[in-house]
Amino acid sequence: MTPMKWFYSFLKKYRGLICLGLVMTTAIAALSIVNPYISGVIVDEVIQAGNYDLLPVLIAGLLGVTLVTGILRFLYQVVFETASQGVLYNMRDKVYRKLLNEDFAFYNKKRTGDLMSRQTGDMEAVRHFVSFVIYVVYQYILQFMFALLMIFSVNAKLALLMLLVLPLTALNTYKQSKEIRPAFQRNRNCFSSLNAFVQENVSGNRVVKAFAKEDYEIEKFNKENDKFRDSQIKASHVWMKYVPRFEILSYALTIILMSYGSYMVIQGQITMGDLVKVNGYLWMLNTPLRMAGWRVNDIQNFYTSIEKIYNTYKEEPKVHTPRTGGIHEKIKGEVEFRNVCYRADDEDIVMDINFKVHAGQTIGIIGSTGSGKSTMMNLLCRFYDTTAGEVLVDGVNVRKHDLYNLRDNIGMAMQDVFLFSDTIEGNIAYGRPNCSFEEVKHAAIMADANHFIQNMPEGYDTIVGERGVGLSGGQKQRISLARALLKDPAILILDDTTSAVDMETESYIQKQLKNIQTEKDCTVFIIAYRISSIKDSDLILVMDHGRIIEQGTHDSLLAQNGYYAETFRNQYGEIPYDLLKDRKATADGHNNSQKGGR
Ligand code: ATP
Ligand code: MG
Repeated sequence: MTPMKWFYSFLKKYRGLICLGLVMTTAIAALSIVNPYISGVIVDEVIQAGNYDLLPVLIAGLLGVTLVTGILRFLYQVVFETASQGVLYNMRDKVYRKLLNEDFAFYNKKRTGDLMSRQTGDMEAVRHFVSFVIYVVYQYILQFMFALLMIFSVNAKLALLMLLVLPLTALNTYKQSKEIRPAFQRNRNCFSSLNAFVQENVSGNRVVKAFAKEDYEIEKFNKENDKFRDSQIKASHVWMKYVPRFEILSYALTIILMSYGSYMVIQGQITMGDLVKVNGYLWMLNTPLRMAGWRVNDIQNFYTSIEKIYNTYKEEPKVHTPRTGGIHEKIKGEVEFRNVCYRADDEDIVMDINFKVHAGQTIGIIGSTGSGKSTMMNLLCRFYDTTAGEVLVDGVNVRKHDLYNLRDNIGMAMQDVFLFSDTIEGNIAYGRPNCSFEEVKHAAIMADANHFIQNMPEGYDTIVGERGVGLSGGQKQRISLARALLKDPAILILDDTTSAVDMETESYIQKQLKNIQTEKDCTVFIIAYRISSIKDSDLILVMDHGRIIEQGTHDSLLAQNGYYAETFRNQYGEIPYDLLKDRKATADGHNNSQKGGR
């Protein structure tokens, strides 16, 4: 499909409305020949021939045509504006849905500001085209042709002479179109780039301040700003070159008419009234010529924008979505990785991953940073597809699951916590917007978030800023955990979710998780750096450089005396494990008595 065909698929729905608009435009163009004609008759029949009785009828005719034209103009603008808003609404909706369906790989590459430009500046160019350019260009063409026909009917020689400007006009239109398109493409790219820069800097403003890099960022902004200005100026040079040419051509028509037309009147080849008529038609020839340069700009600007929107739209996600109707079917929560590998950008990210867990088990994942822990969970949720091997949930390859249903059964508290600028209640209830407040509160209690939320001036109604600004790291993590828990998932993934909370809170959360597991048979994956977070898991996976280098229970891994035992020693020193276990049990008992009041 080409960008234009894609655009037409939106226009098609408003075909009827647009045709109605074009019929009205045709009527206006046809009516515009009446007034100059009547003016000519007034000169010849009323002024020259003295038929004064005709004057009231002719004046009434002039008034009638003006009134009808006015009404039609109002109506066709309503029609085209309605059609353009409809086209734009559907296009925005379709592009936005597609954006939501794009996979992680798409968002890894694209800049947010760039995508925003597609939905704002580029869409505006499309709206302008449908609401204005289509009918104006059509009207110009009709008026030009009607006027020429009328001039032909007055005098063919005069009309032919006036036609001489046409080849020059066509040549200039063609040349301007060719030159302006790359200029507009540059323009749109610079605009996107500037947008992306501003968006990134506003979002990352705290980092800029923390590193006192304001001057550096302003310098970088100035470069982007300069580039955008220069590209605008370059584009304006193109139209500055052509617009005067069209003006000159339009004035040439006046000169031809006034010189040769007057000569013909003197020679008696045409009447005075004919000259007035042709003079009336002159603006119908002039206006399209004078405006040709601007409309060429509009058309090219529209084409550049629709190309950009379509190119973003047509990118297909690599993760395909088999949908079996979107009905929520409960998954049991059995997970198996069979010889799973994932490669990205010619690099092995995870390799030969093999493990199997039963529903209701807890799996701890530990390993060095960048070892592939989050990637493994991303493969389970099908944010990416494996390049080799298979991930099975309940014995079925995740590729064969209904993607929507699969993800609906997974509750994930991501490593990079993202909160919407909404109330705390809205953020927690994101996965189940229709749940009761009691359920939200219950999830918050399990995530040990209820206490601090209630201490806020507006409690659960407190609006958290963009990305959760105004909350501490640990508070954000706990809200994100509550959000995942409220989904009542079959598989719960906690990616580094308790890294920013103190040990006491962590052990409270672990106890709550245990309760959920026994109650709901939920499979829990816990990714953590602290041994304390995962030591009670049914299975612990130790990762390094994209591979599982050790797996087993806490005791068996300590006995292996490998990476896990080394990490244990780094975190707990050389204290004998049994002794430590006893100490922790005492500490946990103490914590429990404290948590009773929460
Ligand atoms: P951390 O403990 O720091 O969160 P991790 O074990 O979760 O680390 P991953 O996020 O899984 O590590 O990343 C593993 C490696 O793969 C990293 O080097 C990362 O840069 C790379 N990586 C992950 N996803 C992609 C991708 N889609 N394209 C390219 N590289 C990727
Ligand atoms: Mg990670």
